[in-house]
Amino acid sequence: MSHDLDHSSLAVDEGLVSYPAAVVERYRAQGCWAGRSLPDQLAAAFTAHADRVALVTDEVRWTYAELEAEVRAFARGVIATTGLRPGDRVMFQMGNVAETAVTYLGALFAGLVPVCTLAQHGSREIELLARHVGARGLITQADFRDGRLLPIAESLLTDGVVDVVVVVRGGSLAGAADYREIIAAGRDSTELEFDPDLAGVAVFQLSGGTTGLPKVAPRLHEEYAYNARQWAAALGWTQDTTVLYPLPLMHNAGIALALQPTLFAGATIVLAANADIDVILDLFEAEHPNTLPLVPPAVAIRLLEAPRSKNIDFGGIEQFIVGGQKLAIEVARQLRDDLMIDVRQMFGMAEGMFLVTPDGAGEDVRFHTVGSPISPLDEVRIVDPSTGQDLPEGELGELWARGPYTIRGYYRAQQHNSGCFTDGGFYRTGDLARAHRIGGEVYYSIDGRIKDVINRGVEKVHAEEVEELILEHPEVENAAIVAMPDAVLGERVCAYLVMRSGTEALTVDTLGRHLSGLGLAKYKLPERVEVRDSLPLSNVGKVARKELRDEIAGLVRTEQA
Ligand code: AMP
Repeated sequence: MSHDLDHSSLAVDEGLVSYPAAVVERYRAQGCWAGRSLPDQLAAAFTAHADRVALVTDEVRWTYAELEAEVRAFARGVIATTGLRPGDRVMFQMGNVAETAVTYLGALFAGLVPVCTLAQHGSREIELLARHVGARGLITQADFRDGRLLPIAESLLTDGVVDVVVVVRGGSLAGAADYREIIAAGRDSTELEFDPDLAGVAVFQLSGGTTGLPKVAPRLHEEYAYNARQWAAALGWTQDTTVLYPLPLMHNAGIALALQPTLFAGATIVLAANADIDVILDLFEAEHPNTLPLVPPAVAIRLLEAPRSKNIDFGGIEQFIVGGQKLAIEVARQLRDDLMIDVRQMFGMAEGMFLVTPDGAGEDVRFHTVGSPISPLDEVRIVDPSTGQDLPEGELGELWARGPYTIRGYYRAQQHNSGCFTDGGFYRTGDLARAHRIGGEVYYSIDGRIKDVINRGVEKVHAEEVEELILEHPEVENAAIVAMPDAVLGERVCAYLVMRSGTEALTVDTLGRHLSGLGLAKYKLPERVEVRDSLPLSNVGKVARKELRDEIAGLVRTEQA
């Protein structure tokens, strides 16, 4: 793919790296960028498909008109009653319920800027991110997993980190606004008038862990809308498409490859409360979805293993797209042989770039690659990361990405940006990939990673973030976090520790209590601890994580043999 566009200078405005003006013009001239805000484009979709079913959960079945009425009521009510103003940034801790779609879309319609934090985040991540983006509000789900989110909201409010909390679905908090009251107030008020700045941030998506300097992806109105439209277009979604989505909706994938493309296509999204296999199979039987835009390999494996699967007809599935993690070829074959599912693959990231298996591809493409970019203007390079030289087809190198919906820099993170983005605006993904020419076309396979991330069933754990917190334990002298292989989740988190002399070794339990006490999300807790007298060092004096990764992989193999 060519990479000769003029991307020379990157505009840096209040810490936000945006697209150079010439590039913006080019993307508009090519018809990718619509010159309209994201809520404006979504409003057009509501009007165009008013009578179709938009959203199904185990509690609601709303048409576009019904969803729009809720969204507009929330938008009007939140501005009329909470003190939030257009331009304010609002964080989320919401599970997969209808109110998540209403509050996210409602925030956009109110001119607020959603910061897509997850219900799975701990108090530490939420507070750090709130401070980093300067969030004024938090929307939280009171009945999520035994009410574990309310204490986080309470401490943020008490400490003055945010000044508005909206509590959704029961529960209450002194000083917080109630979702039902907002909706009721919004039904009576008049339509909002605001004029979003197209160069401003529409949505903040999260990438990476929250070390001292978080990586937050500023997604702009036109490019984020284009991302979703192009995904729907590349996959040929229509009003007859019924999307089943079981992962957290607020994650970039939930918004950019499920909710927003569904709305732009006039399709239906069936939101699963979680990714439990029985929940997914119940929805298969009840709703007959024909499109699964992101199935983690772990879910595909559980589907194969579930006895109930044998009695379900999966023949109506047109798109079963596995992604987020490397798919083993044996799993692809088993899906075909046992469940008659023709698997496709995708690769994507909060920073933008999506690749997907194109329509009609044969097994050589579907089984061995993640396909090709969804936009003809996407540019992918496979590069030797030490020299920056492009590599020939077939050779393993780092995947670099640039295009009409791939960010040019993280928000307020110059230090990360100089390492993660080239001067020409390419994002260095940290993933290792190869280009393959099959039938005259180029497709890519993802074959490794150079970034220190553990991909635990598509949930990402950043080694540095967890190490930093382990080192706050007074008895730990040194620590390294590495991926250990797991048959279902792909990888789990393993901690290598060096204890100070005379102290007792930490265990999975005691280390977990230390990290939870610091407010770290549960999915990031190490599931195995290995204590050593010292850790191997690389020739630049850093812990050689790769050596430890190989060691733990060997240990796991021996134990399983
Ligand atoms: P996120 O920003 O959380 O969506 O994570 C993006 C990262 O997930 C990528 O940079 C890859 O490391 C990983 N990833 C996504 N899709 C795949 C895939 N199909 N195969 C391997 N890794 C993947």
